Amino acid sequence: AKKERLDKVLSNLGYGTRTEIKKYLKYGIVTVNGEIIKNASTHIDPENDEIIFDGEKVNYRKYIYIMLNKPKGYISATYDDVEKTVIDIIDPEYRIFNPFPVGRLDKDTEGLLVLTNDGQLSHRILSPKRHVPKVYYAHIQGVVTEDDVKAFSEGVVLDDGYKTMPSHLKILKSNDISEIEVKIYEGKYHQVKRMFESVGKKVIYLKRISMGKLKLDENLALGEYRELTEEEVKLLE
Ligand code: URA
Repeated sequence: AKKERLDKVLSNLGYGTRTEIKKYLKYGIVTVNGEIIKNASTHIDPENDEIIFDGEKVNYRKYIYIMLNKPKGYISATYDDVEKTVIDIIDPEYRIFNPFPVGRLDKDTEGLLVLTNDGQLSHRILSPKRHVPKVYYAHIQGVVTEDDVKAFSEGVVLDDGYKTMPSHLKILKSNDISEIEVKIYEGKYHQVKRMFESVGKKVIYLKRISMGKLKLDENLALGEYRELTEEEVKLLE
């Protein structure tokens, strides 16, 4: 397996800055496969070597997977000069892994957002070829009708002329303000909002409730997050 500098591995796992790690190593509190290592540039195999830090086994992992119930007011980016980003919500203990959002939710959209540092997984989920379904719950200004359901099932033409793939629209409540669920198989910019615009209606609340087979954990309040279980990670593969 790939070897890396010991100070880098420990620092990436949140044990301190490179400078701090160098100091700890000098104290002799780190062993690798039973041997005290004082030299920060020692190359080790983080996946297979046994590292003990101050008497405790170091749990090495490369990837993290987080499920966030995104609140309004945060943008789906890792950095921004002005706006708050979804990464600002995450604890430093996770932030050191440099997670990024898998896809985007609009600033005013809530719900399921996966954060990870696993680029391949992210790529697979977002690949336009794979058509990973996403389900949204929304409040719509105006009465949503069976005509809209039919239009969505056939694909609607967006403001830029793009015709969407067939999607499933389910009316939960048809009223001045309707409640719906919609399942889409692609991810164009502002897609759900623009699909409703194309039938003359306005999305006034939008929440993502699933992505592929992964569902938003109902126990997560807005702004709360947790790591995905191994089973949940597999659901995304
Ligand atoms: N569609 C939208 O219009 N906005 C989102 O945030 C997600 C899907």
